[in-house]
Amino acid sequence: MDFRFSEEHEFFRTAVRDVVNRLIRPRAQEIDEKNEFPLDLWKEFAELGYLGLRHPEKYGGMEADVITSMILYEELARGSCGFAMAATMQILMGTYFVGRFGSEEIKQNVLVPAIRGEKIGTICFTEDQSGSDLGGTRTTAVQKNGGWVLNGRKMWATNGPVCDFATVLAQTDPQKGLDGLSYFLVEKKREGFGHGQLIHKLGSRGSVTGELIFDNVWVPGGNLLGDGPGNGVRYSTDILNEVRVMTALNACAIANEAMNDARKFALERVAFGKPIAKYQLIRAKFAEHWAWYDAARLYSYRAAWMIQEGMECQFECMLAKMFAAEMCQKAVDQAGRIYGGNSFATEYPQQRYLRDARFVLFGGGTHEVLQNALGAAYLRKGSGT
Ligand SMILES: Cc1cc2nc3c(=O)[nH]c(=O)nc-3n(C[C@H](O)[C@H](O)[C@H](O)COP(=O)(O)OP(=O)(O)OC[C@H]3O[C@@H](n4cnc5c(N)ncnc54)[C@H](O)[C@@H]3O)c2cc1C
Repeated sequence: MDFRFSEEHEFFRTAVRDVVNRLIRPRAQEIDEKNEFPLDLWKEFAELGYLGLRHPEKYGGMEADVITSMILYEELARGSCGFAMAATMQILMGTYFVGRFGSEEIKQNVLVPAIRGEKIGTICFTEDQSGSDLGGTRTTAVQKNGGWVLNGRKMWATNGPVCDFATVLAQTDPQKGLDGLSYFLVEKKREGFGHGQLIHKLGSRGSVTGELIFDNVWVPGGNLLGDGPGNGVRYSTDILNEVRVMTALNACAIANEAMNDARKFALERVAFGKPIAKYQLIRAKFAEHWAWYDAARLYSYRAAWMIQEGMECQFECMLAKMFAAEMCQKAVDQAGRIYGGNSFATEYPQQRYLRDARFVLFGGGTHEVLQNALGAAYLRKGSGT
């Protein structure tokens, strides 16, 4: 066994960390306060090529492996959770199906400009009445004139308010339930594509989130992504492993930022004649965090490695996400306590970590949904070790 990152991975992390420290981290507070899509930063970041991290070089991508992408997701979340959400939507979920299934024409029209940062993408499966339960999807797609007509409303689309294209989950055969769901590429230029309400979020601010409306939107037949209709759930499962590990590493990054900040504070803050870092009750918080944080990262990179090796690993990805999300809640809570009253002031970042941490509870599957799946798997086969 070897738990080390390769030299290439270490080199990549150093390069990305430098970018994050120079361009993104200094603006985290401003991005959070303004809560607007940071277009100037987006353009600067796009020029570095990271938006095409996982896509083939012939479309302008970097063809990086899974572990490299996870390193990027982790480092981005160290910088600004809001910017990380906007960027990871573009790098992974927003372009994944177009890159995997799009025709050459679609790739030239959508993927290539997306990799350059010139077009912004989103993915839409959540609706007002259905999030975890994709079977509740009401958006429909009906065949017409050699293409499909989409009708419905999607909620919670990250980058939705600024998007140029969306990958949309729609029901093509209501009789079949989950087996009737399919993904479609819908460009904003299509008639009937509209923006609905903007969602004012607690955290991850600066990534903009909202409702998208599809009112009799016709798309050509080639915009049905994948082999025939009805494969939406299967394709969702394919991408979910990566989304879960990405979210787990976002959680690790937020937790680490919060605790590092608290560490500096604990070493400097004097109470009752000595730095609070000297008190055992404060030390215990760091010791516990270290154990949880290390475990969460180990879970996450093990899962990333398994994805990369093409191994069956849906439960390992779920474990990573479920554990890291809880670790993150605990870390931001403990860090805030160490920071004392100042953690409640908006001028310090502790309150931002606390708000940003809430997102990781939902993205990639809620805690309860993961518990259901993991509990059922454990009852079937035990832990597997
Ligand atoms: C910041 C942010 C960005 C997002 N971006 C996107 C995006 O870009 N595109 C997109 O499509 N969606 C997006 N989402 C939506 C996200 O995917 C959903 O919030 C998530 O799938 C959960 O769905 P829900 O919120 O509708 O909750 P629900 O699924 O309605 O769940 C509500 C509660 O019921 C529990 N629950 C549900 N089913 C069960 C069960 N079987 N057993 C026990 N408990 C259960 C859940 O755990 C939760 O506690 C985003 C959400 C957030 C917060």
